[in-house]
Order: sequence, then C-alpha cells, then structure tokens
Amino acid sequence: MEFTLDEMREHLNVLEARIAAACKNAGRARESVKLVWVSKFHPAEAVENAIALGAHDFGENRVQEAELKFSARRTAIDGAPVMCHVIGPVQSNKLKKAAIVADCIHSIASMEAVEKLEKVCAGLAGGKILDILFQVNAGEEETKSGLDVANAEAFLAELETRAGACDATGRSEKFPHLRFRGLMTIGKNTGVAEDSRECFAFLRNLQQKFLARGGVFANFDQLSMGMTGDLEVAIEEGSTMIRVGTALFGERDYSKPVNDPVR
Ligand SMILES: *Cc1c(COP(=O)(O)O)cnc(C)c1O
Repeated sequence: MEFTLDEMREHLNVLEARIAAACKNAGRARESVKLVWVSKFHPAEAVENAIALGAHDFGENRVQEAELKFSARRTAIDGAPVMCHVIGPVQSNKLKKAAIVADCIHSIASMEAVEKLEKVCAGLAGGKILDILFQVNAGEEETKSGLDVANAEAFLAELETRAGACDATGRSEKFPHLRFRGLMTIGKNTGVAEDSRECFAFLRNLQQKFLARGGVFANFDQLSMGMTGDLEVAIEEGSTMIRVGTALFGERDYSKPVNDPVR
C-alpha cells in the first residue's frame, strides 16, 4: 500500500529531524546535504505527492522506470525544475536513454561508459551537459556494481589523462559534455549504520584528493552516500547527497514493478 500525502508528510518530518540532528552533530548546515527521494518501485502518484511536499530531486535505479516517471519534465513547488538522478547500474545499451532522462547519473563505473556518454550527449539536441558520479564498491562486496576500491584511484588518474586540456570550469577537450561531480557508494547494509563509516570515510578521502587536483575534477565536490539505514553516519562523513527511499515512501513492493505493462 502506498502512503497517503499526510502519511508522507509525517515521514518527511521524521526524516528531516534525523537529517537536522546529524547535521548539527557534524557541525554542518542542512543546505549542504541534498535529499534525493528514491521513488523506485513507487508509482507516479507517489512522485506527485513528493513534489507537493517540496521534493526537488528523485532517484531511480532503472532507466525504463525513470523514463516512465520523468520523461515529462516536472516543476517543483518553488518553480525550479525537478531533477532526475539515475542511481542504479546502467547497461551499455541503455546509456543513451539514461543520458536523455537523467540530470545526473551516480552509477558510472567504466571508461567505456564515460566515452559512450560523451558521444551520446554531444549528439543530443543542444549538446546536453550531463553530471556524472563514479560508483565505488566500497561497502557492498557481494555485488559487482562499481569500481573496486583497489582500482578506483588509478581509474580517476586515467580519466584525468584521457580528458586532456581543461578550461577553468573543468570542461575538458575530450569530454566537453560531461561534468564529473564526485563519487557514490552504497554502504555495508548490515543493519548497523556504524559498519558503513569506514567505507564512507574512504570515499570522502578519495573525493577530496581528486577535487584538490582541479582540472577535470574542478566540479568533483559531491559525495552520494547514505540511505534510510545509515544516513546519519554518511552525513557525519561528509555526504552531500543522501538517497532515501523507504523512510519517505515506505517499503517497496518488488512484486509490482512500475514498468510492468499489466499493472
Ligand atoms: C534503493 C536505493 C536506495 C534507497 O534505499 P532505502 O534504504 O530505501 O532508503 C538508495 N540508493 C540506491 C543505489 C538504491 O538502489
């Protein structure tokens, strides 16, 4: 059962209190943490309710579902455009669709994907500039999504080499349609938030190191980490984007995919 608007408002209030407490603890401003509402497996009506409650940013982990809900551009209550974040692994043959629907892709983990996205964005009407983050497999050892911890630094150094000359805004000769924004990870997911601290700290150190290099990393100021179960620890470790589903929309019903044509 989907939440009503009133139920969602209550959940949002509880969540905002958690975020506020974590920010206070960490000596950070609430505005330094973006809330990405993870609407996967929830219907378009849930997205409408979220927008009514002031949501600006949504996360989807499948391209087809993102297209269903976000191909028609939406406006937040303050008039700003609603942003669509693709946060799940994207197969090579879906990168074009992802680049079209997304404002930001959090889950890039190969040079092939970077090269392909540059081509795709250059070919889109107006030459879209796409924000991307690299996913690092810092917590979830059992799945294969993301760059290996051991390879992540070498990967970023290789990207820097391939990017070629850059202007002061980080726009590179080789990837002029991509803005490299930072790193994403999924925590340990053990049910104990503290277990994720080490991998979040690893991510922050890596992101800070490359941000300091400037050049193609001039915009590398984002850390996408923290979900319903571990967002406090993520905020303490420097997260700038928390991706929250369950705490806002309730449990997901995986037996009812939103893109199921029967539904
Ligand atoms: C589903 C998902 C989330 C949201 O998880 P919750 O525990 O429901 O908050 C965050 N990030 C990614 C990559 C996801 O796939």
